[in-house]
Amino acid sequence: MEAPQQQSLDAKRAESSRPFHGEGIIKDPNLAAMHRERCNTIVNDAKELRERGVSLGPFLEIGAGSAQRSIALLNNFPTDGVATDISLQSLRDSRYILSLMNYARKPMLICCDAHHIPFMANTFQFVFAYQALHHFENPIPVVAECYRVLGKGGYFYFNEEPMDSPVLRLLRGNRSLSRPPTRLQRLGYKLRVEKIFWDDGAWERSLGMTEARFDIGLWREALRPFSRVSLEISRRLRLHTDLHRPLLNTLLASITGGNVKGPCEKAEGEPASSDFRERLICLDCRSTQLVQEGGGLLCANCRRAYPIIDGIIRLLPRAIEAQLYPASSSN
Ligand SMILES: [Zn+2]
Repeated sequence: MEAPQQQSLDAKRAESSRPFHGEGIIKDPNLAAMHRERCNTIVNDAKELRERGVSLGPFLEIGAGSAQRSIALLNNFPTDGVATDISLQSLRDSRYILSLMNYARKPMLICCDAHHIPFMANTFQFVFAYQALHHFENPIPVVAECYRVLGKGGYFYFNEEPMDSPVLRLLRGNRSLSRPPTRLQRLGYKLRVEKIFWDDGAWERSLGMTEARFDIGLWREALRPFSRVSLEISRRLRLHTDLHRPLLNTLLASITGGNVKGPCEKAEGEPASSDFRERLICLDCRSTQLVQEGGGLLCANCRRAYPIIDGIIRLLPRAIEAQLYPASSSN
């Protein structure tokens, strides 16, 4: 069955209703440790990427959660950028990340949908995502948006994403948890061995978020626009491969699956040169004439208003805004 081009509204709603943790980020030792670890991971990844010639900015992060990774990047490297997430509540947690990590600098924060990134094409040199793509049933339209906003010579980097193996797929019967469970999955839940099918994501599942496992074919399809794809697949085996080439490692990876990460280079387009702040666009008319007015942003071209809440700009398509944030949705 073909996956839809758009994530369902229910899945978007589940993503957007992730809870606000606030002080819990500092006071709950598990949460604090998790965020510290995430900060360390991106700092280590960024060092390695920089050595490989990847420019770290201007950057855009999708599925940023409480923006801990963007914040760590910004406070450890001379760069600037934007953290985005569909959950306003999660982004509001970013101020507690600053206290937890003793950091001062904050990225631009935008509550948006990764299917509709509110920036002109060729705006960023570095677009990244951690534990994000597998929360979409279909990665193709989201990766296409990341590709669009990247400038020539820019890199899309992702990490902490699962690649499916044929054995697991056969056991599980489907790729995404948003589908009804198969008979074998129901038995697995009963016997409490569901980790065989879904190696993690119990918390996400409880919120109704999509958990998907893409096989190598779908990864290849999603990453097809990039000129160079340098992936490392499986934490244990560390298989280095370019999905575009029929290497032995590609074949091995298609069998083993496992964690997948790596930078993908965009060779086409225009270099990202000007200030990303000037390249923010209105989702209704695509104009860049967004001006501060009445505590929010107003499109001077079509008059659509976008709210700013706790310093976070909410820039969603009208239909999605009305569904996810009905009480406060603008006009
Ligand atoms: Zn407009």
